[in-house]
Order: sequence, then C-alpha cells, then structure tokens
Amino acid sequence: MSDPAMSHAFPSLSRRSVFRGAVALGAGAALGGLELPGAASAAVPVPTIASCATWGARPPADPLTEISTDANKILIHHTATPNVTDYSQAHAYALARSIQNFHMDDNHWSDTGQHLTVSRGGYVMEGRHFSLAHLTSGNGMVVGAHCPGQNNQAIGIENEGTYTSTTPTTAQWNKLVDLCAYICEQYELAPTKIYGHRDYVSTDCPGDAFYARLPQLRLDVAAKLNGTPPFSVVIDNGSAGFRASAAWDTSSFSAQRYGADYRFATPVGASDAAYFSATLPAAANYRLETWYPADAGYNAATPFVVFASGGNKTVTVNQQANGGGWRDLGTYAFGAGARDLVAVSRWTSGTQYVIADAVRVTRV
Ligand SMILES: [Zn+2]
Repeated sequence: MSDPAMSHAFPSLSRRSVFRGAVALGAGAALGGLELPGAASAAVPVPTIASCATWGARPPADPLTEISTDANKILIHHTATPNVTDYSQAHAYALARSIQNFHMDDNHWSDTGQHLTVSRGGYVMEGRHFSLAHLTSGNGMVVGAHCPGQNNQAIGIENEGTYTSTTPTTAQWNKLVDLCAYICEQYELAPTKIYGHRDYVSTDCPGDAFYARLPQLRLDVAAKLNGTPPFSVVIDNGSAGFRASAAWDTSSFSAQRYGADYRFATPVGASDAAYFSATLPAAANYRLETWYPADAGYNAATPFVVFASGGNKTVTVNQQANGGGWRDLGTYAFGAGARDLVAVSRWTSGTQYVIADAVRVTRV
C-alpha cells in the first residue's frame, strides 16, 4: 500500500500513542548510535544518526519506493508533541518508535513518514527505512510521507516538540544545524533550500516561532558549510558594550522598548553620541540591526553612524515608525576584536528625541 497524501506527517499524536511509546521504552535503549563513515569533507562533521535497527524499528508494512533522484530541498517539521524535559537517548528512541507506530497503525502508512527525527535532547534518528543509506551515499532517496507533492524530492525532518510560541532547545537546534549541513553537503544543496512544511501546504507546521527562526537556521547551516561558526550578539543599552554621556536620559515609557529601558537625548550640534560596541571574532562582513521604540515624539531623522572598515557611514532612521522590532541598518565589513560598531548621534536637524535602545550584530 502506498502512502496517501496528507496535510501533516504527524498531525495529532494522541496521549494514547505517547503513552504506548513510553511503555515500549527500554527495548532498544541500550544500543548506541550509529557512527557513519566519513563521506563528508572536513568542513562538515558527520553527525551521529541512530539507524532504524538501533532504535528498534518494526519492518515496513509494504515495500518502500527508492528512487535514484537526489533530494532537492529540506523540509522542517515539528512533531506537535509535548515539549518534554526528558532529554535522554532512551526517550528519543521511544519517540521514534511511537511515531512509527502512529504512522503505521493509525495512519496506515507503510513506515515512518519522515526521513529523519531530532529529539529535544539532541538525538538524531533515521525515520523511514533506507533514509540513512541514501544520505550516507549521497545518491537517491527513499520516497517519504511528510508533505504532499514533496515526498519524492524533499528530505523531511521531524523535530520533537510544539513550536507555535517557543523554539527548539539549544541541543536540538545545534544537532539540526549539523544535520542540515551534512544533508546539504551530501546532496550538494545550498542552505537556501531549507524550507518549512507550511511553505508547501496549508499547515501550522513547524509552528510560528520555529518558522520565524528558519532564516537563522539557513545562516547557521551556511556558516557550518563555510567552516565558520555563527556569531550574533545583541548589545542593549544596559549591556557592557553600551556607553553614553549623562546627557542621555533613561526611559521605560514605551512598551516597544528592548529590555528594561532605553536612552534618549535632545538633538544638539555637538559630538555626544551613544555607542554600541562588541568583540568580533574575525574580520568579516556583519549585518547590523537596531531595535527602538517608535513614537510621534521621537526623531524622524536619527543618524546612526556605522564605524565600518572602509570608513564611517551614516544611516538615517525614522524613529517615529517601525518600532518594536529589529530594523536593518545594512551589512558592513569590520575588523576583528573589540570595537565600536555604531553610534546614535545627537547631531540632527530634527528637534525631537533621538533614541538609543539596542543593536544586533550578526556575521553573514
Ligand atoms: Zn509538518
């Protein structure tokens, strides 16, 4: 029997299914993960992926379809199961078994729908049989059952948890980055080929909060493929990397502020800027963003002076609009080490308050 089209690989795992998985815990728990042979280059570590045999999968109910076509993208899912705090390998393997049971017994599919699963504890497991063999060789794939229209071209990754309003654990995120980088390398995919389930069908999956992090996932995977670690730091006005004179007052007036409060000052024809500094890991290109509360009483032409390698550049920001979120200031080359990145200047022709709240710097 072939797998039917469906709106979600794992739409509503019942308590019964979770419980059944938990009861089965122990059968394969003592087995270790499978270390894959080194097919990847030195730039991308080969992740440890527990095979179906390792976590104790049942055999498929029907012959699976293997194709010689390589995957052309990665689709990110969440399992919509509870955000458990059991981060053990035993729990991860039990999860894999409960998903397979659900897909085979309740959905009546041939086998687990997705190709790979990442637990909240950071364990990576093979989903559908033969997924691992194809990934290891970088040739072809087994047709999955995780997204209608994409099952014969997208590698489906189920991430344990429900990410409508919260994001994956750090361990889970880091393993997902490693896994995606490895998949990209094996199938020669660009990190831009990472998508969310909702990009292809109408579904909440992988949740609003997780979906909003997919741009960062692509960045982190790109950094892994390039052999450079991701770097992103927020400098709030309360951070050590911030400094301003006493002429800058402190306020918590606007709910759009970042953190506890922000600094503000009246315009003046003199150099009395509020500085944001950070220690950068390397000479490279970095994207700068600012967060400020917007208000009709704030300056419509606030100068942000960027201390880029090629010389200072001024970006004018209208602080009467678009507050309460990260706003792009552009991407610039900076040298390595501790340095001033950007300053909010009081030297503006406007008459209303200039605001210094937070800056984010991200290596690109
Ligand atoms: Zn999904």
